[in-house]
Amino acid sequence: MRFKQQPDEILQGLGVYEPEDIDLDLVAFSLNADIKRAALSDCEGNIIGTDSKAIITINSDADPRRQRFSLGHELGHWVNDRGRNLTYRCDTNDMRQRSMRKDDFRQQKEVRANQFSAELMMPNHIFSHSLNNLDITTESVNYLANEFNVSRTSATIRFVEVNSRPCMIACWDKTGNRRWFSRSPIVPDSIWPHTRIMQPRDAFVLSNGLEVDADKWINSEGSEDYSVIESIFSNGYDFLSLIWWKDEEQLADIS
Ligand SMILES: [Zn+2]
Repeated sequence: MRFKQQPDEILQGLGVYEPEDIDLDLVAFSLNADIKRAALSDCEGNIIGTDSKAIITINSDADPRRQRFSLGHELGHWVNDRGRNLTYRCDTNDMRQRSMRKDDFRQQKEVRANQFSAELMMPNHIFSHSLNNLDITTESVNYLANEFNVSRTSATIRFVEVNSRPCMIACWDKTGNRRWFSRSPIVPDSIWPHTRIMQPRDAFVLSNGLEVDADKWINSEGSEDYSVIESIFSNGYDFLSLIWWKDEEQLADIS
């Protein structure tokens, strides 16, 4: 996704080349945005800005990683949406928006701010080096989440998005309905996860790199004939299944 300023270029301009040096307060300072932290009841973050100066307030009651994501999100509004008068109040629903809805410009700005935040916390020039052929499993997700100080959900989405190997992340509510999913670039658009998992209690058992029949998760034709590596974890509300076509030839055969 293109932004008015690219997150990795902002960080490189500040001489940031290691995960532990990604300091969002420093980024805010360099962009002329002041940060306040206060208990907010109606949103996770807000921003008030003019042409050249902004004040961002982050909900101090939230989990520290959530606060970090919120700050990246508000900086996304500051970089991309600034004008004469900029005012946003963003709640958890805004910060969950991942795919742009046609003709809903406000929602599209939330999606862009979320993507900006993810790329600021896990910038291309650092994140891609950290992958180093990591297995596509919960264990790797835990490692990346700690390394970059982000939630496991954020780490997994980025892990899949930039991965050169075939994998997918799908998010499900507890009753088995799919909320969203994302494929790595090499996975064909014809490959879809189910819209609903029929026996969620049996399916959502935490796992780390387990070989299972592909049709447990994948709806596409031929998925009953091969296997994938699954890793399942929960973010406290939903279940996430990370699916890896470790044997890439199987994917080539069906697509
Ligand atoms: Zn927002």
